[in-house]
Amino acid sequence: MAMDFSFSPGAENWNFIRPFNHVVVIGCSRYEDKEAHAIPKFLMDKGYQVHCVNPNAEMIFDHPVHHSLKEVPENFFEIVVAFRPSEEVEELARQLVEAGRVPGVFWMQEGIRNEKARKLLEARGVKVVEDACIAKVWAAGNIQRDELYMRVLKISGIYAKAKGFVLNPDPVRLDQVIAGLVANEASHGYRFCPCRTITGNLEEDKPKICPCKWHVDEIERDGFCKCKLFYAPKKEG
Ligand code: SF4
Repeated sequence: MAMDFSFSPGAENWNFIRPFNHVVVIGCSRYEDKEAHAIPKFLMDKGYQVHCVNPNAEMIFDHPVHHSLKEVPENFFEIVVAFRPSEEVEELARQLVEAGRVPGVFWMQEGIRNEKARKLLEARGVKVVEDACIAKVWAAGNIQRDELYMRVLKISGIYAKAKGFVLNPDPVRLDQVIAGLVANEASHGYRFCPCRTITGNLEEDKPKICPCKWHVDEIERDGFCKCKLFYAPKKEG
């Protein structure tokens, strides 16, 4: 069956990151409550070699931090993940080209877009992804029915039953949504909705903890919630 990744923006880009092992993280944060810390940590826990670049930090994840792109050995430039404001990304792409650090994949996290950077790098054969979470994409491409997955599935099932909803009957889609929730719980500590953008500000993101603030209205209106985890039960006849 063809995989439908539409619930998680950018998830079809799993094939871009699949062949690589080294991830250079530009703007990696030493603060545990930041996405720019949690996501590289998630990737490290999954076995990636993570190389942090941050001019203002010395040690992150117990490893020395690179203060500039040029300090990172050329052969580590397989995947570059940018945690920088959109308007700074063109300059970053230019620096990569000038430093001879052209990666295989250039990844802009959720909320980050820059068309000029995209064009500049794509012209050099780089696969470029904008506005997508690399951890969610990894999870969509690596569904593991481990203990956490089973727990999230069970909790979702209990909730659906209590509210008179049903879980998505399509096992592939159900797998993907549960995997997205698991990835968010593993990297952020909360089961944030996998089909909405997380800002990193807990107050702002709280309504996106599953079951989210909007799901009842969405189920009433569309018959399912935005991620298609919960459905209204089929009407008899
Ligand atoms: S209930 Fe809300 S948070 Fe949970 S999967 Fe559905 S849309 Fe996402």
